[in-house]
Amino acid sequence: MKVMKFGGTSVGSVNSILSVKQIVEAVEEPVIVVVSALGGITDKLINTSQMAAKGDAAYEKEYREIVNRHIEMVYTVIPAGDARTVLLDKVNELLSELKDIFQGIYLIKDLSSKTSATIVSYGERLSSIIVASLIKGAVWYDSRNFIKTEKKHAKHILDSELTTRLVKETFRELPEVALVPGFISTDKNSGEVTNLGRGGSDYTASVIAAALNADSLEIWTDVDGFMTADPRVISTAYTINELSYVEAMELCNFGAKVVYPPTIYPVCHKNIPILIKNTFNPQGEGTIIKQEVNSGSKAIKGISSINDTSLITVTGLGMVGVIGVNFRIFKALAQNGISVFMVSQASSENSTSIGVRNQDAALACEVLNEEFSKEIEMGEISPVVAEMNLATIAIVGENMKHTPGIAGKLFGTLGRNGISVIACAQGASETNISFVVESKSLRKSLNVIHDSFFLSEYQVLNLFICGTGTVGGSLIEQIRCQQQRLMQERGLKLKVVA
Ligand code: ADP
Ligand code: ASP
Ligand code: MG
Repeated sequence: MKVMKFGGTSVGSVNSILSVKQIVEAVEEPVIVVVSALGGITDKLINTSQMAAKGDAAYEKEYREIVNRHIEMVYTVIPAGDARTVLLDKVNELLSELKDIFQGIYLIKDLSSKTSATIVSYGERLSSIIVASLIKGAVWYDSRNFIKTEKKHAKHILDSELTTRLVKETFRELPEVALVPGFISTDKNSGEVTNLGRGGSDYTASVIAAALNADSLEIWTDVDGFMTADPRVISTAYTINELSYVEAMELCNFGAKVVYPPTIYPVCHKNIPILIKNTFNPQGEGTIIKQEVNSGSKAIKGISSINDTSLITVTGLGMVGVIGVNFRIFKALAQNGISVFMVSQASSENSTSIGVRNQDAALACEVLNEEFSKEIEMGEISPVVAEMNLATIAIVGENMKHTPGIAGKLFGTLGRNGISVIACAQGASETNISFVVESKSLRKSLNVIHDSFFLSEYQVLNLFICGTGTVGGSLIEQIRCQQQRLMQERGLKLKVVA
């Protein structure tokens, strides 16, 4: 059996949802289908509840739009008849519950995180019953009964042991097509509705695939596969045929939104391959993520980035040679639920820099200043401050281990383009080099690195020629005109054959 997950855009329009129907109905083995909310609905549910909490009566208009989107979808994709009537009853019941909740928030002008989690759950509850009614023979399952979380460090974390047991019990007998809402879960003690975090439907699918030892996990989305960079930022990004679990994990952790980061581990642990496919181009090969992959000829596999980065540096001559400073930094941050995605320590041991999300920066400074208050008072450590508006970029690939000069090429490219690197880190596994730049340099950094590692000289030249329509003159003139700039910017040796 296999597990297939369809994201928001895949179930977001009439054409795409009909394509989902075709793709699933063509499968000849038992399949568990996990779906996200209709594209954009989770954001809309959050915005609407925030408007209601602020006492903004315009929330009602937003709510109507949510209603219309679902009702129109039902009328367009489900033929008139008993099935449609039954489905409309269920959809209307959920929408009317939602209306009551919004009204309650509007009246008391308060929105707790518990209520917020309940509200967003309606996205997947609605989409999943629509898709279940659309796909022939599909049986709907409520993931709130078997995806269980527990509260740790102020966050709802999956209880994987309990979830695995419940998934196995629920799917002891498999129908041809099981339909499951992604993202949503319940607290194992209180039963309150929780979720696995934004983008969490991928994780739902992965956890189910791992619990049932599925043959594969398929993530169906709106791009042709895992690409060398975010195609919305880098127009020349292209699909990667194969990625190892480690490479995929590194790229996802550093912002490649195509797969939600926690998704990789459960299936990697069971050696279940992940296939990334495009709902809008089902014939495309997609990307396979597995243990052993063809390493290919390129030094790196992909680039990813996190835009909202803050760098927090704990520094002071009083840190040199003192045992336990890093332990205290990470303990203080962990106790406050702050996740650190990059660490860099100077060899003199007098400073440790950590990368956190902007939203966590203020709290991180507060807890570190408290943790080191004595040392700060004595002047051994400087008061901890955050440098905001930064971005973290990672280049990833297992080939780095065997290829000397990658760091030189990377930093040479950045240097030639006038981009300064604020901090950098490379793990001993040598599958990732990550570094921090100013946010305003992010796009340029990604472009020059992508050109430098992924495009041949001929392609770079071609791009410049295509982009110089206003320069005028003959092709040869245009080539000469760009030659100098290219030599400077890319540090390339050009052979112009005309
Ligand atoms: P879904 O709704 O199907 O879960 P997401 O929006 O979460 O889809 O993820 C798909 C998007 O991820 C793509 O549209 C693309 O813009 C973005 N993305 C970012 N980095 C990459 C990458 N390296 N490869 C492919 N897509 C990427
Ligand atoms: N609907 C949720 C979100 O938008 C979960 C998901 O799409 O995976 O974050
Ligand atoms: Mg997603």
